[in-house]
Formats: sequence, C-alpha cells, structure tokens
Amino acid sequence: MTAPRSPTDFLAAEVHELEAADLDWKLRVLAGPSVPACTIDGRSVLMLCSNNYLGLSNHPKLKEAAIAAVRTHGAGSGSVRPIAGTMDLHVELERRLARFKGAAASLVYQTGFAANAGLIPQLVGEGDLVVSDELNHGSIIDGVRLSRAERAVYRHAQPEDLARVLSEAERHVPSYRRILVVTDGVFSMDGDIAPLDRIAPIAAAHGAMLYVDDAHGEGVLGPGGRGIVAHFRLSRDLVHVEMGTFSKAFGVVGGHVSGSAELVRFAWNKSRTWLLSGSAPPAVAAACTAAIDVLEGEPQHVERLWTLTRRFQGALRDRGFDLGASATPIVPVIVGDSAKAKRMSQRLFELGVFALPIVYPMVARDRARIRTIMNAALSDEQLTQAIDAFTQAGRELGIV
Ligand SMILES: *Cc1c(COP(=O)(O)O)cnc(C)c1O
Repeated sequence: MTAPRSPTDFLAAEVHELEAADLDWKLRVLAGPSVPACTIDGRSVLMLCSNNYLGLSNHPKLKEAAIAAVRTHGAGSGSVRPIAGTMDLHVELERRLARFKGAAASLVYQTGFAANAGLIPQLVGEGDLVVSDELNHGSIIDGVRLSRAERAVYRHAQPEDLARVLSEAERHVPSYRRILVVTDGVFSMDGDIAPLDRIAPIAAAHGAMLYVDDAHGEGVLGPGGRGIVAHFRLSRDLVHVEMGTFSKAFGVVGGHVSGSAELVRFAWNKSRTWLLSGSAPPAVAAACTAAIDVLEGEPQHVERLWTLTRRFQGALRDRGFDLGASATPIVPVIVGDSAKAKRMSQRLFELGVFALPIVYPMVARDRARIRTIMNAALSDEQLTQAIDAFTQAGRELGIV
C-alpha cells in the first residue's frame, strides 16, 4: 500500500514549478516610507517602480490627516457602508472627489479591484455583451468573469477594431440587451494612453456604455491630474463610468467610480464588494481627502512629474534605449529576453536603483523590460544617478 497523499500536496508542487521557472514572486522588503531614497532588503537604493507618482504617500498633510482622523473617529469604521459604516469622512471624500472630477457624483470602494469586481458584473449580465481592450487590467478581467455576459476583445488601443467588433455585435441574434465597452485609461505595462477621444464616439454610435479604468491616469493626466476624461476634454455624456484608485498617485488606498447620480445610486445598491465588505478606516478616508486637497492646492507635483518624465525619457532615448510606446510617467525600458531583464534589474540594484523586471508571460518573450515609474519627489541629482545607472548597466549587458 502506498502512503496516503496529503490533499494539499499540490501547494508545494505548484510553487516548486514556479520557482523552477524563476516565475515566483520574491518579496522585497521596504524599511520605512516609500520615498525616492529608500531602504530595500537592507540596501539604500533609489525607488524607481512605485505607483506613488507624486510622492503623496509620505506627504505631511496626508499623514497629519490620517493621525487626526484616528484621534477623532478611531481605528476602524465598525461596519459595511450600508449598515453602520458610512462616516461623515466617507461622505466628505465622495463630495470632494466628485467636485475634483467635475462629475455629478462619486462612490468610494475599499480598493480599485473591489470597484471593478463589484460594479462590472452588475452593469452587464445574461444577454449582454462586454467589449474589452485585449490588454485590460486583471481586475477588469475578473469583473467581466463574474458577470454572465458574453465577452469580446478588440485589438489593443485600436478604435477601428472596436468598431468592427461592435458592428458584428449589431448583427447578433437575438440582439444584445446592453453593451459595455471597457478600457484601461493608461496601460500599466507600456505606459501608453487609450485613445478615449476616438473610442467614445464609436461606443456612442453603437449605443454602448463606456467604462474607463483610470488607475494610472489620475494624478497624472489632464489639468491638475484630473485624469483621462479631463485630458481629452470629453463630455460626461460619453463616458458613463470613470473608475479609479487612491492607491497610486493619490498615495493611500481605495477605489472609486464617478459619473451620474443614477450611476452612483445604482452602484451602491448593487455592488456586492461594496455592500458586503467593511468600509475604509477613518485614517484612509481622511488621508484620501487630504490628497485631493494637495492636488487642488499644490499643482507643482504634477508639473514636476512631467518635467522628470520628459528628462528621463529624453536621456534614455538619446542613449539608445527602446522605451516602446510610453507616453506617460510609466517608462518601460525594453531589454530583450527574460534572463537579460532579470540580470539588468539585478545589476541596477547593485548600482543603487530599484526597478523590477517584467517578463514573459506578462509581456511577449522578446519584449521583457525593466518597468520604471517616474516620481515627482526625485531630485535632479537622483534622476541623473538613475540615468547613469541605466547607462552603465545597459552598456555592460550589451543593450545599448
Ligand atoms: C492598480 C490597478 C487597479 C487596482 O487598483 P487598487 O486600488 O490597487 O485595487 C485596477 N485597475 C488598474 C488599471 C490598475 O492599474
């Protein structure tokens, strides 16, 4: 008789498989705040891959707001939003966010993932169609999976292909009840911007709803960092759901959607992630409101972010690096195959720069890259140091 196998043997087996392929996540530990000059795994390095675009995660106004809210409102909210977990701090944050966005109303979720996973499956269901950019974020993909709608994808950032998919959908029998077009605003692997100005009229011509996930566009694109809808000066009649996060440029954590008052009432009555999961702690809600204060009152952070982005991109392109389609502070430095990207990241770390490799299967086999994200808190000297490190590592590895 063979020894009985444990029902959890697969856990170690599957992890070993990932480790053997060097595809497992090795966690790097940050000692202290997420700032450009930081300590990771005990080493002093420049942080070049956080989503903290504007340096707000360590901004004194956000920290003070969080501390003050703990003193006045406690550590937790005590409930889910619809029962007893809606505090004045949540209502104030939603009011301020809607004003910042120029939308009729906003709703705050615990995370951006919870917003996509909670709202998308309510907007569409059986008999409906979701049309998605092929490179959309995993939280959109999971939100779509939770719906019982049919799915179609269009080629990445190609409005002509979206028009083709929507025209084909029109010939579908029986005709779809509702159609939802959904896209990232800024794509996180390449740093390119969705052509929302061309997508919106196509969706409208086919009577489809339009949903944009602006997680990487907020605090970055548009006047004062108001996001992709403001960037393209699009009418809110064309963009029905503007979804975003407080975990990136806003420097805290939390998700949100903005749009009409009807959208927000629908979302809070229907989204299971919102109805059934505890609301943001007071410190989080207050720090997010403080982030909006800073964006409205200190426009220099967004300006600085773009100044550094132009300098960094210009210097790397001058030295012969391939930055792909980057049009934002997400700057992928494309190096070739996965092994080379891992060596490059390791060498950069030795040279004092922290930026992780993005490899197959997240991107094509020959398009492995070091994905960098610019940060407004970098000094001129630190940026020069980063450019020098890339140049040296790139030359040593024969990339430039
Ligand atoms: C980061 C990200 C999310 C998830 O946001 P969280 O608030 O961190 O959960 C959703 N969509 C996109 C495009 C993202 O980049």
